[in-house]
Amino acid sequence: MNIDYIIVGFGLAGLAFAEQLENYNKSYLVFEDNSQNSSLVAGGVYNPVILKRFTPVWDAIDQIKIAIPFYKELEEKLDAKFNYTFDIHRIFTSVEEQNNWFNACDKPFLADYMIPEIIQNTNDSVIAPFGFGKITNTGKIDTKFLLKRYKEYLINKNQLRYEKFDYSLIEFDSELVTYKDIRAKYIVFCEGFGVKKNPFFKELPLQEAKGELLTIHAPELKIDYLLKSSIFIMPLDNDYYKVGATFNWTDKTMLPTEEGENELLVKLKRVITVDFEVVEHVAGIRPTVKDRRPLIGKHQQYKQLAILNGLGTRGIMLAPKMAKKLFDHLEHDSPLDKEVNITRFN
Ligand SMILES: Cc1cc2nc3c(=O)[nH]c(=O)nc-3n(C[C@H](O)[C@H](O)[C@H](O)COP(=O)(O)OP(=O)(O)OC[C@H]3O[C@@H](n4cnc5c(N)ncnc54)[C@H](O)[C@@H]3O)c2cc1C
Repeated sequence: MNIDYIIVGFGLAGLAFAEQLENYNKSYLVFEDNSQNSSLVAGGVYNPVILKRFTPVWDAIDQIKIAIPFYKELEEKLDAKFNYTFDIHRIFTSVEEQNNWFNACDKPFLADYMIPEIIQNTNDSVIAPFGFGKITNTGKIDTKFLLKRYKEYLINKNQLRYEKFDYSLIEFDSELVTYKDIRAKYIVFCEGFGVKKNPFFKELPLQEAKGELLTIHAPELKIDYLLKSSIFIMPLDNDYYKVGATFNWTDKTMLPTEEGENELLVKLKRVITVDFEVVEHVAGIRPTVKDRRPLIGKHQQYKQLAILNGLGTRGIMLAPKMAKKLFDHLEHDSPLDKEVNITRFN
């Protein structure tokens, strides 16, 4: 079988790259072995404002400009809803934070998202004596459902193989690569933290940033915005809420832990007063880079091998733009920004 691309891994990175290939009528096949689940457990929040410091996320303007239409087109293509908009209410912890909020609200770009007033708390279930800062034009992508629908779409077209990609079976000739019965122009690796097992790219400085999330049922909470303190509480349907997320820089497993659950529960009880029941607990590893920038580019020696990784904590906003940049680089030799190119670690 002769095709243009093989994609290894089908999380947000693999999906975003596949969508580029679809838009340009390239032929491709995806390998997915269910060894990682970052994209499946992700909160899916997109928000271009850093809520700790009230500053813009790196490259946010461009990322948002590409990401929002990207997910909208996917909704149309797959005939399903993935994008849910909501406001974020950031709990203030002091008068100083309130002042910092007003200072930030005047800045260009942030003014499109941050509302220049203090919202008073009127909900007895929530503890917020200093009120909230409100961020608008934000929301979440239901990544689990999006990936499910896209995989069904690929299976219908015979373009998804549920099997582990075996790196030792790649054969190179001057132009193409052969893998089992397939000859392709490029292999694009999108394995998330699984790249640590990839002999061609495993030296890249990816760090494990394990995250755990709870789903709770809290019938009396009654909030329709994402509440942000040291954790977030995100509304789902029917009085269910996602609560997350932890950061653990040493644990490489994807298993939910008692320690993670306890940490979330302690923080949760600091901001809500009502009873709740934990109904789900999940964990995943965010593929995070030492310098907090993505990893894209071609292998130094084997030019038929490329990587799209390092989406870290912000895969929703980053994946569409990074997929586009990598595609343009492979197809049209467009230069990559130094900040994201893997050559920065040569
Ligand atoms: C708890 C948590 C909460 C998060 N919340 C948010 C959020 O609110 N907003 C946001 O933007 N981001 C969030 N993130 C981050 C986001 O999930 C990641 O940036 C993103 O999912 C990374 O996508 P990826 O495709 O690079 O990796 P992954 O999702 O890990 O996908 C890699 C895929 O490759 C497959 N694979 C690996 N090796 C092989 C192989 N040899 N053969 C075949 N297949 C292979 C794996 O099975 C996997 O499906 C969160 C992450 C976590 C863990």
